[in-house]
Amino acid sequence: MRRASLQSVDRLVEELLQNVTHALRLRAGERIAVLLNNLGASTSMELAIAARRTLAYLQARELTVERFFSGTFLSSLNMEGISLSLMRVNDEQVRRLDAPTAAPAWPNAPRTAPGATLTRIFEEPAMQVSDITPSISEAPQTQLGKTMQAAVRAASQALLAAESRLTEMDQAVGDGDLGYNLARAAREVLGQLDHFPFDHPGQALKSLGVLLQDVLGGSSGPLYSALLIRTGISLEANAGEPGAWAAALVEGCGAIGELGGARLGDRTMLDALVPFTQTFAEATDLGASRTEALAAGVEAAQNGAAKTAYLVARRGRSSYIGERSLGTPDPGATAVAIWLEAVVSALSE
Ligand code: ADP
Ligand code: MG
Repeated sequence: MRRASLQSVDRLVEELLQNVTHALRLRAGERIAVLLNNLGASTSMELAIAARRTLAYLQARELTVERFFSGTFLSSLNMEGISLSLMRVNDEQVRRLDAPTAAPAWPNAPRTAPGATLTRIFEEPAMQVSDITPSISEAPQTQLGKTMQAAVRAASQALLAAESRLTEMDQAVGDGDLGYNLARAAREVLGQLDHFPFDHPGQALKSLGVLLQDVLGGSSGPLYSALLIRTGISLEANAGEPGAWAAALVEGCGAIGELGGARLGDRTMLDALVPFTQTFAEATDLGASRTEALAAGVEAAQNGAAKTAYLVARRGRSSYIGERSLGTPDPGATAVAIWLEAVVSALSE
């Protein structure tokens, strides 16, 4: 299956399965093993969506899925798409599939049938960010989940609307790809908006981070990914505690610093993110309402981004042009201020 729009992954998986189950003449009650293979350039999220659909399809036809393997097993460098292999199995074959192996690409997760949910799908072992897999979910059920989904939607739409402005800025002081890269990633996020587990904000942030690893280009890709994944992990660890969000954002900013070596004042996205985080945290500590703390944070981010126009870059591509960047704010910091403003107005509604 070649990649089509994400919305049609489900339909294409069904077509594939119809053909394969028909060719194998599989009947209800039979036992099978399934191999879902990434042909090379499919994203983790696409693979997860295909996995969910595959399992649901097979279980609806009362086939007993004894083993389900999902990952990159046989790939053609950069080919977008998946392949699906089904095999009838008996006890002996299941035992052999479970046999220990030193093959590095074969999943070494505990061997069990996947059950009715996808929690036991074997993920490929060698992910860039270990043991984080995108979660599967439907539209959010809780008020918190709905609000978070609205915030992510607003952030994506704001980045789409700001594409040409960010492009111009990055052309002036960088290589001109920031507007396009962020808009492309925003489109991907919007296309998958119902597949993030927003009812569990920490998990949702991690899923977003994993997706951005694949779909956001430039230096921004790994930096945003680190921000979201680290923030998500921290949020999950402290879920429900007061100050959990502020603490998680501090951790997330720390991850950007660790990965890219930048600090406040280096003329990077941190010059918007850190003021937001600090101001939000301080306002919360001082007893401000959530709305007040968020509004103060956004103002600090906007000021921080504007002030980068007077800074000479020490990190990132702008550092190559030294003082010639003076007068133009840092595009990455500007982008942060733009999506933060959208997030905060969505949260305050
Ligand atoms: P590039 O085209 O240089 O690979 P992008 O266009 O994706 O990168 O993003 C540029 C923005 O990334 C910069 O404006 C800056 O805000 C941010 N950035 C670049 N390097 C770093 C870094 N080391 N740490 C934090 N942010 C950085
Ligand atoms: Mg760039």
